[in-house]
Amino acid sequence: MNPKPLVEVKDISMRYHSPQGEVNALKNISLDIYKGEFISIVGPSGCGKSTLLNIMAGLITPSQGNVLIEGAKISGPTTAVGYMPQSDQLFPWRTIWQNAMLGLEIQGKKTLEAQEYVAQLLKNYGLYEFKNSYPSQLSGGMRQRAALIRTLAINPSILLLDEAFSALDYQTRLVVTDEVKQIITENKKTTVLVTHDISEAISMSDRIILLTNRPGSVKNIYTIELTCSTKTPLKCREAPEFSKHFNTIWKELDVNVK
Ligand code: ADP
Ligand code: MG
Repeated sequence: MNPKPLVEVKDISMRYHSPQGEVNALKNISLDIYKGEFISIVGPSGCGKSTLLNIMAGLITPSQGNVLIEGAKISGPTTAVGYMPQSDQLFPWRTIWQNAMLGLEIQGKKTLEAQEYVAQLLKNYGLYEFKNSYPSQLSGGMRQRAALIRTLAINPSILLLDEAFSALDYQTRLVVTDEVKQIITENKKTTVLVTHDISEAISMSDRIILLTNRPGSVKNIYTIELTCSTKTPLKCREAPEFSKHFNTIWKELDVNVK
C-alpha cells in the first residue's frame, strides 16, 4: 500500500488575465509528491513551471483545482513551505546572519533555540565565519548556500526551488548542486526543483515531471534510478543509465526553436 502523499496537486489550471489578453499557463495538472522525495519539474521556457511552483507555495491562486499539503488545502503562504526564488534574493544591507534570520523574524519565532539551529546550519555549511559579512563579500555559491539556509531556518516540510542554480557559472553550479543536495538529504527535506537543465534534473532527482509547451500539462513522469557509488549529483552524472535518461527526456522535451 502506498503511503499518503505529502503534497497533492489536484487538477490545477491557471489562466492569467492581463491588459494584453488572456494567457493559459497551466492545464489540468495533477501530481502526488511523497515525503522525502526529490522531484524536478522540467519543460520548455514559458510553459508554466514558475506558475506551478508559485501555486504550490500559496503565492498565487489557481483558476481551477487546489493543492493539499498533509491533507490540508492551502489558501495562502504557509510555514509548511520554504520557497527559494530564482535569484538568491539576499538583502544587500543585511549581514549573512541577519539574512539567515529573516524568515524567523517575520514569523516572530526568533527564539534562542531557532538561533542555535541557524548557527549550526551556518557552521555545518562553512558560512559561520562569514556571519557578519554582507552578501556582496561572498561568492555566488556561498550566497546560494546562505539563501538555502535562510529557507531551511523556518524548518519547512517542503522546499520549492525555482531555477536555484541557473545564475551560477557551470563549474560553480556542479559544486553547489552537490552541496545543496547534501544539505537537503541530511535535513530530510522533500524538494521540488524547477530547472530547464535536464542533466541537473537527472543527477539530483528521484522523479522528473516533464511538462508540455504552454499551457503546461504533465507530458510524462520519469523515475530515475542511477547506479553510482556515492549518491552525489556529480558522481551520478557518470552512472551508466545517465545518457539513456537524457536522450529519452531530450527527445520528448517540446523545444520549439523558432
Ligand atoms: P516558466 O517558468 O515555465 O518559464 P512561467 O510560469 O513564468 O513559465 O510563465 C508561463 C506563462 O504565463 C508565460 O507565457 C508568461 O508570460 C505568463 N505569465 C506569467 N506570469 C504572468 C502574469 N503575472 N500575468 C500574465 N502572464 C503571466
Ligand atoms: Mg520560470
